Amino acid sequence: MQPENENKLARQAEQDGSSRKKAVHSQASVIQIHPAGERIHPKKAEGRFAKLRILAVLATQFVFYVIPWFNWSGRQAVLFDIPDRHFYIFGLSLGMGDLIYLALLLMICAFGLFWWTTIAGRLWCGYSCPQTVYTEIMLWIDNLVEGDRNKRLKLEKAPWNFEKIRIKATKYLLIFLFCAWTGITFAGWFNPIREFVPALFTFNAGGGAIFAAAFYGFVTFFFAHIMREKVCLHMCPYARFQSAMFDKDTLIISYDVERGELRGARKKNVDPKEAGLGDCINCAMCVQVCPVGIDIRNGLQYQCIGCAACIDACDEIMDKMNYPRGLIRYTTEGALEHEYEEKDIKKRLKRPRVAGYGAVLAVVVIAFLVGISHRKMVEVDILKDRGVMVRENSKGWLENAYNLRIINNSEREQVLTASVSGFEDIALTGLPEDGIKIAPRETVTVPVQVSTIPEYADKGSHPLQFTFRYHESGAEEQTVITEDAVFIGE
Ligand code: SF4
Ligand code: SF4
Repeated sequence: MQPENENKLARQAEQDGSSRKKAVHSQASVIQIHPAGERIHPKKAEGRFAKLRILAVLATQFVFYVIPWFNWSGRQAVLFDIPDRHFYIFGLSLGMGDLIYLALLLMICAFGLFWWTTIAGRLWCGYSCPQTVYTEIMLWIDNLVEGDRNKRLKLEKAPWNFEKIRIKATKYLLIFLFCAWTGITFAGWFNPIREFVPALFTFNAGGGAIFAAAFYGFVTFFFAHIMREKVCLHMCPYARFQSAMFDKDTLIISYDVERGELRGARKKNVDPKEAGLGDCINCAMCVQVCPVGIDIRNGLQYQCIGCAACIDACDEIMDKMNYPRGLIRYTTEGALEHEYEEKDIKKRLKRPRVAGYGAVLAVVVIAFLVGISHRKMVEVDILKDRGVMVRENSKGWLENAYNLRIINNSEREQVLTASVSGFEDIALTGLPEDGIKIAPRETVTVPVQVSTIPEYADKGSHPLQFTFRYHESGAEEQTVITEDAVFIGE
């Protein structure tokens, strides 16, 4: 539809007495920039939010590509060692006995996201979600090799010739290299990367690591290059349930209907008020830059990933027209409906929903910090041997059998000794007198026996207390832990 015709229809709507909101959704407002079913080729947006997105991509990708190469205390700083069932996160070393801390870390991420979404809407999606970030990188490659939107559209329609093959081959070579390196890096989070990468190039890498690299490389290609915005539109569950976290005070990106309507083309020197127009010149730049292909002027839509490209595009137009910036801007529904002024948006942080998610997040963070600071390097589980309830040993004492499951959570060899109390005469056998040595991150199960004089242990169960002392091999300082158990009498 030509701008002149749109303008005419919009004016007609006003003359007919339609409200401004109606006009927004009138036929005049419908602009089909990205034909349904066809690949979206967004125009490159430039401006302050585009710069922020570049910074976000660089920051997140620095974490992803560079952190695995850092060492910490002589090993990879961050390593999720699945075969060894041990995770290392800088100074933190978590084994299978520490699943609770991993669960708490996941809960912190989840509640942190809920809390952040309630405050800032889809800021996470727009700037740091891996799908957005990798799609953005793919768009950089598109732009670099094929040019901006118009050139890409022209290339799509052009017949296959040498030039088109050359451009496409160059693009896919870059995409292949990028996806391959992404896959290799991903595998390096789970396998020592300083060994894995040289082994890969000398054909000595393990099959599991090669599979992880190839799989993640393909996943990157498929989701970031082939699927792109379709993941956000049709597959991402977060896009669906985040509306439950939104309220009237959540930060959103919105088109200012009151200011923008009636939209329509006009010359730069025409006074919009005199022409009966709002500030939207209906240039559709906001639609052209949108990576998910929506028109923000149709209101808040679940497809919007909050990337702010439309803000940059519209601000540029406003500058050219000498209109104030912010026809599309970060705001809240409450501010748009004049429940409070835009300058008071920050004050709306103090509301029950934000406080609720914040409180839950704080509880989980405190639980994690307290737990991790009180975490024992060695843990002992006392398991009663159910096959042997009570028996008489060679001394004529009553004896119960137990299995001690000893978990060394540390990265140093630990030496553990044990004693038991509960009766006046009591003996513990099964452990070497100078202690049992447990290798770093090892779990061992040791059968032990507790015995006592029969007259102390009449029928029924009697409380016992095990005392364990452990220390690092070669070190003097001991840590003491006590565990309760029961002794079954005659
Ligand atoms: S970029 Fe701004 S002026 Fe142009 S159509 Fe979008 S809202 Fe209207
Ligand atoms: S509507 Fe604007 S903020 Fe939302 S996805 Fe499109 S360009 Fe990004």
